[in-house]
Amino acid sequence: QYVEAGRSPRESDVEVVATETVALAIPEGSPPAILVKNLYLSCDPYMRGRMTKHDTPSYIPDFTPGSVITGLGVSRVVESTHPDFIVGDLIWGITGWEEYTLLVSNLGSFFKIRYTDLPLSYYTGLLGMPGFTAYAGFSQVAQPKKGERVFVSSASGAVGQLVGQLAKRMDCYVVGSAGSDEKVDLLKNKFGFDEAFNYKQETDLDAALKRCLPEGIDIYFENVGGRMLDAVLPNMRAYGRIPVCGMISQLNLEKPDPVHNLFCLLIKQVRMQGFLVSEFYHLYREFEDEVVQLIREGKITYVEDVAEGLENAPAALVGLFSGRNVGKQLVVIARE
Ligand code: NDP
Repeated sequence: QYVEAGRSPRESDVEVVATETVALAIPEGSPPAILVKNLYLSCDPYMRGRMTKHDTPSYIPDFTPGSVITGLGVSRVVESTHPDFIVGDLIWGITGWEEYTLLVSNLGSFFKIRYTDLPLSYYTGLLGMPGFTAYAGFSQVAQPKKGERVFVSSASGAVGQLVGQLAKRMDCYVVGSAGSDEKVDLLKNKFGFDEAFNYKQETDLDAALKRCLPEGIDIYFENVGGRMLDAVLPNMRAYGRIPVCGMISQLNLEKPDPVHNLFCLLIKQVRMQGFLVSEFYHLYREFEDEVVQLIREGKITYVEDVAEGLENAPAALVGLFSGRNVGKQLVVIARE
């Protein structure tokens, strides 16, 4: 069912339904199509926007109650009447939250998976949309320089963990915030962040930022918005950059949190820029080759939070908004 604006989604908003098995085949007379077996589904914060009914169309349609949820996932082609796909192809793109999906439109938006020896689940995260978001937002929007001071919020998540590691590769001083001590430990001891703090335990975010980044921040990779953004602004250094990737803390509020310190953008000459990953897909193959190489050399690591089975998908999805996930949240439907 629709989730009203101003409240967090609940597991009970999503229904898992068993249907009678129908003939699994592309219907005769169908336009060129593929039938896919869905393997891994991606839980992503942007899906919250699709749960509320909007009066004006957005860049991606609202979910329709009673219909199958759609989202990014990794799938295997089991039948094809489309010239670009053959049986056995592994692909990632927008599919259905179900075991098999018949795909007739938007087939040009799917990526074929070339590195099938790596964990296929990576194409929901590290090598999929979130990883590519980290790469595009950091390299293209933040335009980092060697040795800069970088702060990442929601740093242990699907996007944040890669931003931090890319920043370390540029010899930056990297600090992250996250919502539990377990996540802070991951940041420091698995992803190589120089410092990290649990924002839920800090009564004064400004003091936490000053403690971890006494010389200020050159790049703030913004994932959460609200009071974190407000605390960061006075700590920005001259000519800093704030790529605005997301504002997850604002998604379930009736009224957005006030931000008081925007004046700092002016006096510090800071560039704050929103971006959508969809604008950068022309760079995807370049990113994929680069990150695959780093994975093979053991220079990039990635943590996933894996829910087993469609029956556990609703909890996995809504858990994003309370920070239940540790690392990239995905759902396994089948492994091959
Ligand atoms: P994550 O894996 O980071 O999961 C979401 C996390 O957000 C939770 O685990 C939780 O971590 C944190 N969170 C939830 N509620 C709050 C809150 N009220 N205040 C602060 N933190 C909160 O998600 P992704 O890495 O997939 O996404 C990160 C951000 O990037 C999101 O804002 C998303 O919308 C954005 N995004 C933007 C894209 C673009 O094209 N611009 C593309 C992809 C993602 P914690 O325990 O640390 O609180």
